[in-house]
Amino acid sequence: MRNGIIITLKIRKNVVKILVVNAGSSSVKFTVYQMETETVLAKGLVERIGLKEPNFVYERPGHDKEEKVVAVANHTDALKAICEKLVDTDHGGVLESLSDIDAIGHRVVHGGEKFSEPVLIDSDVKNTIRLCANLAPLHNPPNLDGIEACEKAFPGTQNVAVFDTAFHQTMPPEAFMYAIPRELYEDHGIRKYGFHGTSHKFVTNAAADYLGKPVDELKLISCHLGNGSSIAAVKYGKVIDTSMGMTPLCGLVMGTRSGDIDPAIIFYLKKKGYAAGEIDSILNKKSGLLGVGGIKSGDMRDIVDAAANGVETARIALDLWAHRLAFYVGGYYTLLSGADAVIITGGIGENSVPARAAFLSRLSGIGCHMDRAAIQITKKAVTLSTPDSELRAIVLPTDEELMIGRETALLLK
Ligand code: ADP
Repeated sequence: MRNGIIITLKIRKNVVKILVVNAGSSSVKFTVYQMETETVLAKGLVERIGLKEPNFVYERPGHDKEEKVVAVANHTDALKAICEKLVDTDHGGVLESLSDIDAIGHRVVHGGEKFSEPVLIDSDVKNTIRLCANLAPLHNPPNLDGIEACEKAFPGTQNVAVFDTAFHQTMPPEAFMYAIPRELYEDHGIRKYGFHGTSHKFVTNAAADYLGKPVDELKLISCHLGNGSSIAAVKYGKVIDTSMGMTPLCGLVMGTRSGDIDPAIIFYLKKKGYAAGEIDSILNKKSGLLGVGGIKSGDMRDIVDAAANGVETARIALDLWAHRLAFYVGGYYTLLSGADAVIITGGIGENSVPARAAFLSRLSGIGCHMDRAAIQITKKAVTLSTPDSELRAIVLPTDEELMIGRETALLLK
């Protein structure tokens, strides 16, 4: 009843403030939203937590960015520093009191098969997130630290978990099963889960707005192209396949990750004397654009610059990146029985003209022809295909934080 009264009052006030938290192993990113207008009131991050000279970055729209070194040893300290700043209204704080926050939305990387939607966090949910840490050992534990730090800092405020894997839970077995003994799935949960779900969902909804059609009438191929990259086939609002797998190592060529390789390469490397940890590090941290490009950088800006300056290895890295991406788009176009649009998003998708050109020039076989003027337009929603193309290509900037804010506000209602 008490909760009932509080919620009724808030709805009457029609004011909802949501804090979105993305806690990584050594950083906590945060954004405070005024949800009715989807305005950012403040955002920032504490980075290098537990390391030398942790750094606190704080930003408010229309004001200079603030940065300072803070003494924080763990996520609880980081949340404390964030809370102190948010209520320090004499020095840029945007909250009168911490109780102004109506709910907190948390990015959680792995929800396993258990979560296909955002959930209110209770002890059962936390236990399941803990169990899923088997599948995401680098991500779920710090996500959980962030949740527990918020529970301490905001007693009585509801916390919501929004999972990177959730949007992909609609995949049928033919898409999520690996062709390996079934017990490995049943006993150990070895299957494709997919990641970047919050981004794919955000741009799927944005595509519906942009194309002026409901989501459940659209067949879309969503390409999230950043340091980590993945692609999803979305049929009438539901994912039917995606390129990342049990872990985010699979699929497209990424900044430092290999994407798909022949699994037998791992046994071959073992025979050649490489330890398991070394192979893990090669495939996750030394491969992709960094590994192939030969210029000691996995940043697409450096790769395209080097390719333009005639560095052959960098050109091959760019071509390999575009080739793999076009291969997936072709496959998903077939699985969807045709598509309304290819959506392009992420740091590379929104910004890199040469990378987009390398990719789109490979799609003419399925009726997507590049508009050479439009391809120069960056950082905003734009159609990159010519008007006579049968398949449209559109750039739609993603916003995972806002999506988490929306999902959290929706659950609060
Ligand atoms: P993450 O997966 O870490 O979230 P991002 O989505 O921020 O990554 O994407 C990072 C990639 O985007 C890098 O490869 C970077 O080169 C590329 N990128 C970012 N800004 C630009 C730009 N202005 N021009 C070209 N590429 C860019």
